Amino acid sequence: MPTTWHVLGAGSLGTLWATRLARAEVPVRLIVRDAARLQAYGVAGGLTLVEHGESQCYPVPAETPDSGEPINRLLVACKAYDAEQAVARVAPRLAPGAELILLQNGLGSQDAVAAQVPQARCICASSTEGAFRDGDWRVIFAGHGYTWLGDAGHPVAPIWLDDLDAAGIPHQWSTDILTRLWRKLALNCAINPLTVLHDCRNGGLQDHHCEVATLCGELTELLERCGQPAAAEDLQSEVERVIHATAANYSSMYQDVNHRRRTEISYLLGHACKVASRHQLNLPHLNQLQQRLRTHLHSLGLPSD
Ligand code: NAP
Repeated sequence: MPTTWHVLGAGSLGTLWATRLARAEVPVRLIVRDAARLQAYGVAGGLTLVEHGESQCYPVPAETPDSGEPINRLLVACKAYDAEQAVARVAPRLAPGAELILLQNGLGSQDAVAAQVPQARCICASSTEGAFRDGDWRVIFAGHGYTWLGDAGHPVAPIWLDDLDAAGIPHQWSTDILTRLWRKLALNCAINPLTVLHDCRNGGLQDHHCEVATLCGELTELLERCGQPAAAEDLQSEVERVIHATAANYSSMYQDVNHRRRTEISYLLGHACKVASRHQLNLPHLNQLQQRLRTHLHSLGLPSD
């Protein structure tokens, strides 16, 4: 019997994964927040994936966290700030040897989740795929990309990567997943907060070259201090390359603020500042950036954590 994938969180990435697994006839079940969400899902009749302008509905079975069935494989597809609490609700259902795949951006939530479920194997993911919801239970596959998966504690790849092959989810097992997550976090810290504060697309940061360069210098120092020298290599030139290559795009943090959604600041810039202070590293520009961003979010009535 193939192992069922339980997908916790029916948002953009959760739907993107659940629908592709279902399309490949891999057994998958959705875990939604509560009975009210389950009822709403029942009315919709399934998850809709819109790809290349064509929409297809997949009647993926769903349940609430309290359903009794044991969980062997759990894809955690919540936002970083929801992951720990969401996993805590299903933790009693985890079977011995259960595995969790954590899709959260940034760092900090993965350790918080792992501490909740010491009996389980936690695999971290870093994805460049892009998706967004244009309605409840309906997701647009906006950007094709790649997902790296890895387990900092055990270098051996799990057998279920075959399911991802079958589902056409482009992926690679990574033995340096922490380096990938730190690198992505550093790129995010150098670009996203400034796009919010300067109210611009990524390309607008070409007019703030010095500010970006100063942040890259401090981020490089941080990565080196916390044992991630590979993530620090040529950071500034990659930041400049990304700014240029994605000049017309709005960063994910810009979009969150623009749509008045809570940001993942605590797991991105906030995490960088917290780790710096733990290492007694003085990074004044990074700290000032965090302060400015928090003040800005607060002034908009958005959560600043
Ligand atoms: P999202 O669209 O907001 O989806 C999150 C989902 O989690 C929502 O459906 C939410 O439920 C659900 N949820 C929260 N708490 C829950 C709980 N206790 N029980 C059950 N469900 C719960 O977020 P996303 O864009 O998919 O992002 C997920 C993570 O992937 C983030 O860390 C993000 O940074 C990362 N990521 C996203 C993308 C992308 O393109 N979207 C790309 C790369 C990385 P409700 O619907 O009830 O609110």
